[in-house]
Amino acid sequence: MIDFTVPPEIEHLCDNIRAFMDAHVYPLERNVEIRWEPKGPVYPAAIAAVQEKAKQAGYWAFHLPKEAGGAGLPFMYYVFINEILGRSPIAPACFGSAAPDSGNAEILWQFGTPEQKERWLKPLVDGAIRSCFSMTEPEVAGSDPRWLRTSAKRDGDYYVINGHKWFTSGAHGAAFAIVVAQTNPEHENPYLRFSHIIVPTETPGFRIARSVPVMGQDDNHHAEIWYEDCRVPVTNRLGDEGMGFVISQARLGPGRIHHCMRWLGMAQRAFELMCQYATQREVFGSPLARKANIQDWIAEARADILAARLMTLHAAWKIDTAGASAAREEISLIKFFGAKMVHSVVDKAVQVYGGAGVTEDHPLALFYRQARLARIYDGADEVHKMVVARRILAQYEGKRPRR
Ligand SMILES: Cc1cc2nc3c(=O)[nH]c(=O)nc-3n(C[C@H](O)[C@H](O)[C@H](O)COP(=O)(O)OP(=O)(O)OC[C@H]3O[C@@H](n4cnc5c(N)ncnc54)[C@H](O)[C@@H]3O)c2cc1C
Repeated sequence: MIDFTVPPEIEHLCDNIRAFMDAHVYPLERNVEIRWEPKGPVYPAAIAAVQEKAKQAGYWAFHLPKEAGGAGLPFMYYVFINEILGRSPIAPACFGSAAPDSGNAEILWQFGTPEQKERWLKPLVDGAIRSCFSMTEPEVAGSDPRWLRTSAKRDGDYYVINGHKWFTSGAHGAAFAIVVAQTNPEHENPYLRFSHIIVPTETPGFRIARSVPVMGQDDNHHAEIWYEDCRVPVTNRLGDEGMGFVISQARLGPGRIHHCMRWLGMAQRAFELMCQYATQREVFGSPLARKANIQDWIAEARADILAARLMTLHAAWKIDTAGASAAREEISLIKFFGAKMVHSVVDKAVQVYGGAGVTEDHPLALFYRQARLARIYDGADEVHKMVVARRILAQYEGKRPRR
């Protein structure tokens, strides 16, 4: 039976996180620019100071188990925390759970050797280094990664990696990349041809060609990278050879839900801003809040947020009780529904604000960009719809048991 009751200690924790956000995170939003530099500090000083406070308070790395250096929350309760963090674009970094480091830490924890954990996971969880995840390539469709071209050829105890990637988020200044490369091109099953390999960014042949500006923003976040005869020891491989996509699923499944949790917070904040503004702004003799179409948007947005929240909780409950693999359909459902929801709610809030909504004076313009991107990364809407529909139809075709 699904039980969405929130235990008092989690309620209490949420109250404390809200207070922490009020005191340390929101005031920073307008004053800190996150722009990653190849040789810059791991985090801007102001963020590093908040990170220290978060660590001292025990609010660090909520996504990881205690043994891995995290707070060890069950997935369900992480929804409540993460939707609070989603209210501010800088909060995940402040609390040690920013992507792509959070996902990389999870797979290093699950699949890493003791040596890999010591060398890479520990400093990553501490926030002493950052990392990136390098899978997507410009030449082939990221939606169908069986055709990725980057190769990792064995040469004794080394892999020699050659390939071209882009959208490697966070590569500037990262200590290492986890690269998805073909190690077993001859394998008859295309899903068993790839491995995840840790490539320190100081390795000769790791070359950032450019930062890819996205929707008018050039903050050094998304990198285009060439791997040119990059030699790394075979011991840098995560898991067994050919297990790359299995690891990707382990990473992306729960990782997608992390995003959905945050979108709830982003949508809720946009919703609150929209309601406040609608009661204050007068047009044609009355506040916007009195106009029927604005009321319609407010009711629609409330329903969308609530529906997405229940679906997110349901998916998290399924992950907690049956595992990420059993929750595949629920994860895909909320990935496309949640992305559509946050895009639609933020769009309404921007419209209510008029010109002010598209300026950088309010967080809405940034939210809008992020919401639009949400419909593409970690699987475009259409890919998740395909996954859901195929699984449902397989039941009618007699290939899967009917639910
Ligand atoms: C902000 C952002 C951050 C990212 N960060 C990273 C990162 O850190 N590391 C990394 O490796 N990658 C990253 N990516 C890349 C991302 O994973 C890919 O963009 C995504 O997987 C889609 O691949 P593609 O861009 O090659 O689009 P394509 O696969 O070429 O797809 C193009 C479009 O085709 C449509 N489509 C696809 N499949 C179907 C289908 N079956 N039926 C109907 N229509 C379909 C969809 O509308 C899709 O948008 C990031 C992307 C963004 C936008």
